Amino acid sequence: VIPEKKVAEWKYTTCNYCSTGCSIEIGLDDTGKLVTSRGHAGADVNRGKLCIKGLLEHELFESPGRGTQPLMRDKFHEEFKPTDWDTAMDTTATKIKEIQDKYGRDSFAVVSTGQLLTEEFYTLGKLVRGQIGTNNYDGNTTLCMASAVSGYKRSFGADGAPGCYGDFEHTDCLMAFGSNLPEQHPIIYWRLKEAKEKRNFPLIVVDPRVTMLAQFADIHLPITPGTDCVLINSMLHVMFKEGLEDRAYLEAHCNNLEELEALVTQDKWAPEHAQKECGIDEDRIRTVARLYAKAGTAMSIWTMGINQSTHGSDGVANINNLNLCTGNIGKPGGTSLSITGQCNAMGTREWSSCSGLPGYRALENENDRDTIADFWKIDPEFFPKQRGLCQTDIFPAIETGEIKGLWLVATNPMTSMPNTPRIRKAMEKLEFLVVQDCYEDVETNQYSHVYFPASVWAEKEGCHTNTERRVNLIRNAMPAYADSKPDFWIFKEMAKRFTERNDIHFPETPEGAFEEMKELSKLPGNYGQQRNLDISGMSYDKIEAARGIQWPYREVDAEGNSTNGSKLKGQHDLKGDPRLYSDAIFPTPNGKANLILVDFVNNNEQPCDEYPFWLNSGRVVEHFHTRTRTGKIGNCNKFSPTPYMEMNPDAAEELGIKHQEYVRLTSRRGDAVVMVQLTQRVARNAVFIPFHFHDCVNRLTLGLLDPYSRQPAFKQCSARIEKIDQA
Ligand code: SF4
Repeated sequence: VIPEKKVAEWKYTTCNYCSTGCSIEIGLDDTGKLVTSRGHAGADVNRGKLCIKGLLEHELFESPGRGTQPLMRDKFHEEFKPTDWDTAMDTTATKIKEIQDKYGRDSFAVVSTGQLLTEEFYTLGKLVRGQIGTNNYDGNTTLCMASAVSGYKRSFGADGAPGCYGDFEHTDCLMAFGSNLPEQHPIIYWRLKEAKEKRNFPLIVVDPRVTMLAQFADIHLPITPGTDCVLINSMLHVMFKEGLEDRAYLEAHCNNLEELEALVTQDKWAPEHAQKECGIDEDRIRTVARLYAKAGTAMSIWTMGINQSTHGSDGVANINNLNLCTGNIGKPGGTSLSITGQCNAMGTREWSSCSGLPGYRALENENDRDTIADFWKIDPEFFPKQRGLCQTDIFPAIETGEIKGLWLVATNPMTSMPNTPRIRKAMEKLEFLVVQDCYEDVETNQYSHVYFPASVWAEKEGCHTNTERRVNLIRNAMPAYADSKPDFWIFKEMAKRFTERNDIHFPETPEGAFEEMKELSKLPGNYGQQRNLDISGMSYDKIEAARGIQWPYREVDAEGNSTNGSKLKGQHDLKGDPRLYSDAIFPTPNGKANLILVDFVNNNEQPCDEYPFWLNSGRVVEHFHTRTRTGKIGNCNKFSPTPYMEMNPDAAEELGIKHQEYVRLTSRRGDAVVMVQLTQRVARNAVFIPFHFHDCVNRLTLGLLDPYSRQPAFKQCSARIEKIDQA
């Protein structure tokens, strides 16, 4: 802890790790060096609190491995040679054009992240869609929240979480699916815990593992991995059979009521039949169904336990069904709240992702293409007409030779993707790879031809959107390290090398890009309605003053009327709208929400004689993603220095394995040697390994994809354990 008297100046910013969106003040000493961080007491999100990652975030700036200058080499196994920015960028632009001229525009792909600032996503999207013109552009967010996006779109007609953290303070019942808040999102957990301590609502946790959140629950349902849809259908069965559904809400505001009722009242979803498949006792299913339906208000949250599955999108849509059937959407305390992963996963969803165009607009929609082409002043025919490949489809396309060149921005697939032995082979096949990252020792950089050193968060300026649609500001607190450059600068400079394709205007500053995005957010989108994603009333100064503003936040005239002709509410308080759909009007063709029919075919990889253990992966509180940052921060790494495997003591005894012994874990994809931690947190036929570490659990995980979201089933695969010589 640095004594506060050593701090000469505090600067306001926002944490750059998870999607909670905590407001931070970072302290600089009188030489301008960052020496400490603290939570901002006036911020609605965190009210002065930070988790260990936020508290130590200032240690990032001079941590080992930071990129100091651009690097280049002809072949990935040769030594890098330092170069200057012009040469690195000219070479990259030339290589992209050569590959596209030879193999077609879609032979080049771009994969970004959920870690950049929103203005950077918007600028990259403009460069990729409007100039490079490839169809294959995605973010690593496909690994974490694509199923939530897909489920929201199918149910409500658009992405965007309808609720907020403030709902914890109003709810009468909370059900958490596959979400371990205390380790993944510690400050959201703190908000939940404070609210529960005040009002003592029942907390139901659905998770195969006895996570820290499960230990805090009133009811823990240790579900069979990948069977959440069975549990939810069975709960809906109880609700419809016992007349507990909110029929008035359903009839007024939902499509497909008859079809959903006919599906879930089938005998196979009766708790006495469903219990075998989902592993939850029939009486427990009835208890939670009644508790949820009879609560004044009820809400559901979920994270990767739902999203990272071949049933991820269906799982999300079915959680939405649960809330529509109980009339719990758009009410204080009644909502479907996806707790998303990275700090700005929402920003990439909103302003540039694989679905294509800014403001939740779709490439495949002609009106959307025309709107954006007109706004950017290019020919709409330049855009591809269809959504391209997701990140999880891009690597197989490299294997088949369909994709020859790749630009990776702040993402590390050599550690984060499932089945990393396969990813390694794909990387070796690329004709050209450019890696843009704050750290030159990121594992994936082993395979690059050009490396762009990027600045870290507080060396840049721009916005994040957090889980609850709150736009937060990152203020530039430090000059860029060595010859690193902000990602915004890299994208806008690269755009100058593609003007012969489309000479688009790119603002010079992030604030200029934000002003452009505000204008764009006033324009109509699908269905001819004004979209909810309207930020036209915001500005950097307003965001800083309010410590974050939730969209929609429309520009209004002196009388409080929306200036863009929107029929939706024009006036708002200074912090934006906490909830979507409180008027029960949804962005679908008839304004009603869609009840989605979710049947269940169990295609999970199941334990068997050869691979008898369920293998699950997840996070620890000290680390973020692939440890490119937290692995270099003293205390984070000291507290969690090595991978380990949680194993049930009874199973270990049967195999003659002791606490802290090393074992070999093998799946159909690969193997890893890992240290055993004996714990009752996992069932006798299950093991758990944190995913943060290179060459560990993702050597084994399964690349099977959800058919709607293309998100991988990281959490449901099978493995066997072998004792090894401890020497
Ligand atoms: Fe940062 Fe998330 Fe921790 Fe808040 S909870 S300090 S946003 S890592």
